[in-house]
Amino acid sequence: MSTLSPLRCPSCASNLKAQDIDTARGLITCGYCGALMNLAAPTAAPGAPAAPAFTPRPEVPLPPRIRIAKTERGVELSWRWFTPVLLFLIPFTIAWDAFLLFWYSMAGSSDAPWIMVVFPIAHVAVGIGLTYCVIASLLNTTRITVAPRALEVRHGPIPWRGNAVFERSQVEQLFCKRKETRGKHGPHVTYELWLSLRGPRAVKLVSNGLEEEQVLYLEQRIESVLGLSDRPMAGELVR
Ligand SMILES: [Zn+2]
Repeated sequence: MSTLSPLRCPSCASNLKAQDIDTARGLITCGYCGALMNLAAPTAAPGAPAAPAFTPRPEVPLPPRIRIAKTERGVELSWRWFTPVLLFLIPFTIAWDAFLLFWYSMAGSSDAPWIMVVFPIAHVAVGIGLTYCVIASLLNTTRITVAPRALEVRHGPIPWRGNAVFERSQVEQLFCKRKETRGKHGPHVTYELWLSLRGPRAVKLVSNGLEEEQVLYLEQRIESVLGLSDRPMAGELVR
C-alpha cells in the first residue's frame, strides 16, 4: 500500500472525502449519493502517513428479525417477510376482494350491462396484485447463503423476483443505500443492500422491507464471512 489512490464510492464512483466518515459509528456515507459503507480498520503500513483517528465500526448486534445459521452449504442469513403492518393490510385485502366478488355475482346473475363487467378490470388487477403480495408477505422468507465460492439470494416459497447467485470472486464489496420516497403520508425510507462487483458494476442484492440496522448487519456479516479485505480504509480517503 505505497500509493494511495483516491477511494471511490462503489455506488456512484465519486471520490469519497474525509468529511464523509462518521468516526463515532464507523460508517462512510457518500456525500453525493448517500451510499453507506462499513469502515474497515486502517492497515498501518510502515512509513505511511498516519490515518485519521477513528473508531473501527463496532460489531452490529443481530437485529431481532434476522436469523443466522450454519448450514452444510455455508452461512445462512434469513428473515421472514412478515411484519405487523400486514395485520392492517389483510382485512383491507379481504374487503377489496369480497367487494369484487359481490360485484361480479351481481353482474353475472342478471342481464347486467357489459360495462358492469368491464368497469372494475383495473380493480381486479389491483386485487390480484395485492392478494399475491399479502400471501407472499405472510409466507415468504429471504435467505442469503454465503458459501465459500458463491453468494446466493433466494426468496420463497411464493415465487418472487430477485433470486440470484454471484460468484465469490466477482464480489468486491457490499454497501447500503438509503431510498426515500415521497408518499401521501410523508417521506418513506427504505434501505437496500448492494453488491459492488468486478467490472465494475453494482447490483442490488436485497431490498424488501429492511431497516438501517438490518442492512448494516447484513453488510458487516456477509463481508466478514466472505473475508473481504479490500474495503474502504480511512487512509485512502480524499481530503
Ligand atoms: Zn456515491
